[in-house]
Amino acid sequence: MNAPPAPWTVMKFGGTSVATVERWQTIIQQMQRCQANGERPCVVVSAVTTVTNRMSDCINEALRNIQPSEPGCAFQQVKEVHLKLIAELGLNSLAEDSSTPNASFYISGLQVIHGLLDDLEQLLNGVRLTREESDPSASPRIHARISAFGELLSSQIGLLAIRSAGVPCVRLDSRRLLTSTESTTQQSEDSFLEANVDPTIDAVLVIKEITRSCKELSSVEGGAPSGYAATCGVITQGFIASTPKGSTCLLGRGGSDTSAALLAALFDAKRLEIWTDVHGLFTSDPRHVSNTRLIRDVSYRVAQELASMGAKVLHPRCLIPAAWAGIPVEIH
Ligand code: ASP
Ligand code: MG
Repeated sequence: MNAPPAPWTVMKFGGTSVATVERWQTIIQQMQRCQANGERPCVVVSAVTTVTNRMSDCINEALRNIQPSEPGCAFQQVKEVHLKLIAELGLNSLAEDSSTPNASFYISGLQVIHGLLDDLEQLLNGVRLTREESDPSASPRIHARISAFGELLSSQIGLLAIRSAGVPCVRLDSRRLLTSTESTTQQSEDSFLEANVDPTIDAVLVIKEITRSCKELSSVEGGAPSGYAATCGVITQGFIASTPKGSTCLLGRGGSDTSAALLAALFDAKRLEIWTDVHGLFTSDPRHVSNTRLIRDVSYRVAQELASMGAKVLHPRCLIPAAWAGIPVEIH
């Protein structure tokens, strides 16, 4: 008889938690901790800190006819942030050193990153060339498409970092897992930038996407190790999803928490961990109130109320899918 499948733990890491080599070491250690406990980790990442804001700067510069190739422009800054992280993680050396086991995996993995940066540059050039004097803003659709590159880049860099530590992991595109709902009264701005995704549990979809990813992997690696699919972790993007027509949409600023909760529901996870630089949920803002208390344990309802009233640690919409699926949420 087959052993029961290992339970999933979904872990979300925000922008500062994916910005440095040390932070990636933490992510890798947490994945190993899960695997040692017989759990499968699903890591949901935000864009590297400041990158989502800089994506808006990229669009604004394109609308002002600034070429993305111009030294010092927002696109060049975005590129530099990522190339620096790649170098610090030692990924170039792994690709260049022919003695690296599976060097081809790092070569093609880095090609994916450079391909993403090229696509982003082309899109920005498109915005620059087609901007209309009468419409000084880019469409919400293109805004969503461009912003998504932050999470697409951080998750691909993360995949290579995780694999270089010997942790089995595949990268899934969360746009294939999460589809938004659209209502006829919704503004186009909302359907692309503040999209709503209903929670579902769908193990079949998850397995299908992992199998597809493992196949892609085996074409790079000349055959995935047997049993790979049963034990390997997953890395995917927060913040982004697909519209019913297949365009990229966003879950609103700070929406990676909500993505992680939706994915925890989809994977029927044992636990959702939100990893952040805030120390937990407090009775009031510890920066302004001196006798504030750390809340150890709280119902979804009260946590939801605190989030809606301004507790910054969780995105207000994040608890709905977790409560729907009954998944415990921990702040780390
Ligand atoms: N990167 C997105 C933002 O900065 C989503 C997130 O970090 O949760 O809003
Ligand atoms: Mg956040």
